[in-house]
Amino acid sequence: KLYNTVQDLKGSIRVFCRVRPLGTTGDSSDGCLDIGLEGQLAVYEREKDRRAMYRFDKVFSGDSTQAAVYEDVQTLIRSVMDGYNVCIFAYGQTGSGKTHTMTGTNTEDMSGRGINYRALDDLFALRAQRDQEMHYSIKAQMLEIYNESIRDLLVDNSSGGPNVLQLLSTQPSGENVPGANKVEVSTTEDVLHMMRIGARNRHMAATNMNDRSSRSHQVLTIVVDGENRLTRARTHACLHLVDLAGSERTDKSGVEGDRLREANNINSSLSALGSVMHALASKQKHVPFRNSKLTELLQDSLGGNAKVCMLMHVAPEATSYGESVSTLNFGNRVA
Ligand code: ADP
Ligand code: MG
Repeated sequence: KLYNTVQDLKGSIRVFCRVRPLGTTGDSSDGCLDIGLEGQLAVYEREKDRRAMYRFDKVFSGDSTQAAVYEDVQTLIRSVMDGYNVCIFAYGQTGSGKTHTMTGTNTEDMSGRGINYRALDDLFALRAQRDQEMHYSIKAQMLEIYNESIRDLLVDNSSGGPNVLQLLSTQPSGENVPGANKVEVSTTEDVLHMMRIGARNRHMAATNMNDRSSRSHQVLTIVVDGENRLTRARTHACLHLVDLAGSERTDKSGVEGDRLREANNINSSLSALGSVMHALASKQKHVPFRNSKLTELLQDSLGGNAKVCMLMHVAPEATSYGESVSTLNFGNRVA
């Protein structure tokens, strides 16, 4: 077991930044980001002569491949097999590339696949490698948090009934939503099948609300239970792969009803996440886990021995200057 000592010295939170390629969403404006050396990123606004510098554990440019991004989270993911809880978050405004990083595209040559697929493939490979010594069970659970309520994305909810799940915060993560489906996954085919069900359920919910996926958090949890074949010693750990709701600040003037409630809920849950990470990073005694469903759900996978990675996503176009600054500030606050 090789653990990165630099990382150990810095604590267990790592913050990366990924810049989306210019123009992929059809915005033809100029860029406003400069990537420097050693994790530096500058944001500038030419007309106003403003420029701000940020620093991360690493910055991925628009040219970086899915494989390259995965390479930097791989050790973290592998530590789940040794019993560490791990959280990986994709944060950023809608259109900044969060889903591209986490899910990606399921192309024939697999180069487009995101962290979710790669992580599972890796866990299967590790399981096979250790099979002499350890028996592992790998299960997946896929939840959505929308307006502070938790829904199961792996249930066949074509009947459309209410499907709000209760959270039991006395239980460890992976077991704290007793009503959620957990499916055993053993092969890439199982994973593809599960992802299709999840995507379909998310899509169904989106038909009567325009792009709900950008207004809800998707939490894919991989529950890994291990047992040493000789000593019978057990490990239990969760890997949470979280595609967060879009961080854009909604212009609340003239917004009312459902839209306003959504905006307020997203805002407060993202800021609750920021406060929790900040409290953990600065080793404060009180960590306000109970301020949002998301942090309550992930409580035992954020603090303690858990390992956390924030993937901050920014759109490079000048029109996103304000949102990028706000995302980068969030990232630097928790670093
Ligand atoms: P988000 O989930 O943050 O709303 P998406 O992942 O849907 O954003 O990305 C918005 C668009 O940009 C999509 O069409 C996506 O395929 C594309 N995109 C995002 N990141 C990249 C990237 N690194 N390389 C190529 N295309 C990307
Ligand atoms: Mg998305």
